[in-house]
Amino acid sequence: MSDSLLADAGTRLQAAMKYVSISEDAIERLKYPKFSLSVSIPVRMDDGSLKIFQGYRVRYDDTRGPGKGGVRYHPNVSLDEVQSLAFWMTFKCAVLNLPFGGAKGGITLNPKTLSKLELERLSRGYIDAIADFIGPDVDILAPDVYTNAMVMGWMMDQYSIINRHISPGVVTGKPLAMGGSVGRDGATAMGAFFAIEAILPKFGLMPPQTTVAVQGFGKVGAVLAELLAKAGYKVVAVSDSQGGIYARKGLDIPSIRQYKAASQGIKAVYCEGSVCNIVEHEVVTNQELLALDVDILIPAALENQITEENANNIKAKYIFEVANGPIASGADRILEAKDIWVFPDILINAGGVTVSYFEWVQNRSGLYWTLEEVNQRLKQKMVTETEQIWSISQELAIPMRTAAYVHALNRLGEALNAKGTRDYYVNGRVS
Ligand code: NAD
Repeated sequence: MSDSLLADAGTRLQAAMKYVSISEDAIERLKYPKFSLSVSIPVRMDDGSLKIFQGYRVRYDDTRGPGKGGVRYHPNVSLDEVQSLAFWMTFKCAVLNLPFGGAKGGITLNPKTLSKLELERLSRGYIDAIADFIGPDVDILAPDVYTNAMVMGWMMDQYSIINRHISPGVVTGKPLAMGGSVGRDGATAMGAFFAIEAILPKFGLMPPQTTVAVQGFGKVGAVLAELLAKAGYKVVAVSDSQGGIYARKGLDIPSIRQYKAASQGIKAVYCEGSVCNIVEHEVVTNQELLALDVDILIPAALENQITEENANNIKAKYIFEVANGPIASGADRILEAKDIWVFPDILINAGGVTVSYFEWVQNRSGLYWTLEEVNQRLKQKMVTETEQIWSISQELAIPMRTAAYVHALNRLGEALNAKGTRDYYVNGRVS
């Protein structure tokens, strides 16, 4: 990911601007990240050598509250990528009406090449480097690609050591034993499921006639595929980085998850106990999966999967973006011309940050909720915002993605206006 993703994200923002009465000053402000921190992190490796890693933390905007966003460990992490992801977080938090701005962080590395001890030293070193830049009221961290609850626990502990008091609210997605929230693990898939269930009846789509293909069988895609299958939808195709499987009659998702957990691969199987038998299916490539004749397509893997090159091949009538940025902006018009409905990432995958918000609330109140409470509150938020964006889309006759940006921009504009005129006068400085 590079500049082009930030530019892509900006294109979508541009499309929404003509529908909102937000000041030009505010728009100008939102074109740039507010703070970008770049750090080098020295780590003592297991063999005694010293290695320096490059890390970043970007707070794109904090008009509506402290920054909020994950930390990614990946070889492709760059300042550009982190800025783009922080931009998305700003709009995602505003779409869900969470009292947060947008932020993101990352370290450029292949985490698979480090031992667990090296990874812990690196994670603690990252917090040492950015400690003055974050905090429960300033900027709150969370897991992202190749970071998890264990890493979040180390980060929270390090921040607490530096500040000499326990500070669970600085990080979400922590282990339950360190103040994590129940329901955080499956929250993104659960949130997407609630949004899908709110939308499909508007088009008269009901299980079991509705067919679904899911690209990406990871933490979100696999869980969502299972939720949909359990609700009666016919999940006919799934894939991972190695390729996919398709069965017109539908796949047994719990069996495939069981097989994948045991073998790391995807196979079309039906399992009884620990015995899994292969069922009739076709092997498909990821490109073939995207082009299947299904009702619903769910990209849940990586960014830029549907582009100007392959958008014409898409036959699904509804696309729910579970991955961040799976559709390049160049493909938008092609999909629109084909009357394909796209439900955008900043709404559909916002369940994770919503339950992160719940975790932060629980940490600050010291009162912890049950799984039923968490899911009920998540459903309420996802359905409310989905309905509001749907209404905007209908009233203005604009795509759901543009409607989501309009919804977020209205909230950001309102918060900027509520701050009064100080920014205009203080040395011309916008704080
Ligand atoms: P994951 O790493 O658990 O799963 C990713 C899946 O995609 C894996 O099955 C992998 O094999 C597959 N994949 C990788 N390359 C692929 C390719 N070229 N073609 C097809 N499949 C491929 O990640 P995840 O947490 O499930 O996240 C998936 C997407 O959802 C990402 O875009 C992520 O940013 C987004 N997202 C995740 C969360 C969350 O809570 N985990 C929240 C918001 C958004």
